[in-house]
Amino acid sequence: MAMRVDILTLFPEMFAPVLGTSIVSRAIDAGVVAVHLTNIRDFAPDRYRKVDDAPYGGGPGMVMMCPPVFDAVEHVQARAAAPGRVVLLSPQGRRLDQPLVARLAGCDRLILVAGRYEGFDDRIRRGLADEEVSLGDFVLSGGEIAAMALLDAVVRLLPGAVGEPESVNEESFSTGLLEYPQYTRPREYRGMRVPEVLLSGEHARIAAWRAEQARERTRLRRPDLWDAWQRRSRRSAADAPDGDDRQGDPS
Ligand code: SAM
Repeated sequence: MAMRVDILTLFPEMFAPVLGTSIVSRAIDAGVVAVHLTNIRDFAPDRYRKVDDAPYGGGPGMVMMCPPVFDAVEHVQARAAAPGRVVLLSPQGRRLDQPLVARLAGCDRLILVAGRYEGFDDRIRRGLADEEVSLGDFVLSGGEIAAMALLDAVVRLLPGAVGEPESVNEESFSTGLLEYPQYTRPREYRGMRVPEVLLSGEHARIAAWRAEQARERTRLRRPDLWDAWQRRSRRSAADAPDGDDRQGDPS
């Protein structure tokens, strides 16, 4: 059954290029995912289509009001059997990473809610959201770009979305490490050569080289990931049956 993703936004037109391009587009065509866009403004309670108001207590900007967002979410929830996991895009949420992407890819249905202005009335978070997700420690003008990033990352993990599923398994973060360096033709470009081992045709040597490069890259570039990977490695070695104390890939 296709995963259903509802995206609630004030700017549904922003999504056309993402939904119409590359892996997401092909996944939609193949019935792997169904994406439905809903304009929160269609649920504005008045004829001026107002969805925001000034913050209680004063301060700059406008805040997204509860009624249109609650009504929009409840409207889309009623359109499918599964209620769906309601995800608010917010700079205050859990930072998006590959384990979170993998967990969300396991849901039957996602409802992504993109904020604008100064963000949501806090009762939207308290009364509607199953979780809040942030794209990173910076502030965007709206949640749409974060929703697109999340959608793209989730869709490429869905079975049938990517032509060669192994490519997804070997990518950066999926093993807890950054991916090894990749090369393609020509063998030499501007004095830079493809490492000899990759031309050798010796699969075991190539695999060993790649594993070593992935570890080294991660150690140098992302000490945080490297420490976490080593900790998991040590734990899985300790959990291994007696006599097996190899430090294997903990993924
Ligand atoms: N005043 C809010 C704050 O300081 O937390 C920021 C509001 S931001 C200008 C408007 C909307 O953009 C947010 O409601 C959220 O949906 C989205 N947004 C901004 N930065 C984001 C981020 N890093 N990750 C996910 N969504 C973000």
